[in-house]
Amino acid sequence: MNTILHHGDEARGRYWREVFAREMPGVDFLCHPDGGDWSQVRFLVAWTLTPEVIAALPALEVIFSIGAGVDQLDLSIVPPHVRVVRMIEPGITTTMAQYIVMATLALHRDLPFYVAEQRHGRWSPRDVRLCSERTVGFLGLGELARASIKALGPLGFRLTGWSRSTKAIAGVETYAGQEGLSGFLASTDILVCLLPLTDATRGILCRDLFERLPRGAAIVNAARGGHLVDGDLTAALDEGLLSAAFLDVASTEPLAEGHPFYSNPRIFLTPHISGVTRPETAVHALITNLRCVLANDPVAGEVDRARGY
Ligand code: NAP
Repeated sequence: MNTILHHGDEARGRYWREVFAREMPGVDFLCHPDGGDWSQVRFLVAWTLTPEVIAALPALEVIFSIGAGVDQLDLSIVPPHVRVVRMIEPGITTTMAQYIVMATLALHRDLPFYVAEQRHGRWSPRDVRLCSERTVGFLGLGELARASIKALGPLGFRLTGWSRSTKAIAGVETYAGQEGLSGFLASTDILVCLLPLTDATRGILCRDLFERLPRGAAIVNAARGGHLVDGDLTAALDEGLLSAAFLDVASTEPLAEGHPFYSNPRIFLTPHISGVTRPETAVHALITNLRCVLANDPVAGEVDRARGY
């Protein structure tokens, strides 16, 4: 028997069980915390893991993340032979691309400045630049960055990107590795972080990086809060190293009451809503991937556990 356990939002679990009953009737779809024979569970679909759940699944072979990232899964409690697959589905990529276009345009057209001026009752027009005079640089050139680049393309920004391995993307100037980072940053006016959170990328949005951007650059972090050193951002904004930031993620979520980000007029905050897994589309991505696993075919979004993404 092919048994899968859903661990997470109960309404989504019930909905996915109905879809599986129609589209993969050969799969026994269990929903945590309902009963069922967990000893036979080969597949787990989850946003986070607990030691109790992992210990109760001796036959586990594959974990399917409900999100595009996997850093929220504590893989230290998962036996090394268990495969991990992240979620690649149109709901996440479409909503992320929308968010990046919104944040980029808002920064390009000085929205944080004008909102602050309005609060003070001031009418202060600034010079307007063309998109072609502004460089939007992506930290990470994966699924979400590419979808965002595609959405930004028609607006005419200069587009650049940085990744671990060398990439060729039409219309994008690409840089790779530590040796490419300074050159990439030096020309970036709006920096968009869409990196996975790994040991190599934790804290990358720090003073040292901000100093390598043109003075007055802006940042967008739609990846993970752990990429950003909070105090370094506040200081960089105070000193004018950076002009503004759009943050969709925080080091602890929800961001603690009274955190200085809430009241900083140069920071626009959203509560981790940039790229959203949509149950209606994600269930089909899950079914496609499960079919691939069962057929021994390559799956989309297989994570290299040693690399961390
Ligand atoms: P992905 O397809 O795995 O792409 C990751 C990109 O980052 C790749 O281009 C990779 O380089 C690059 N990279 C990884 N480590 C690097 C390093 N040390 N140095 C330079 N580049 C590095 O990931 P994705 O689907 O685009 O998602 C990115 C992240 O977005 C997720 O991991 C998740 O944390 C976050 N996310 C946030 C939300 C939200 O709502 N805020 C929603 C979904 C996802 P290579 O191409 O060379 O491997």
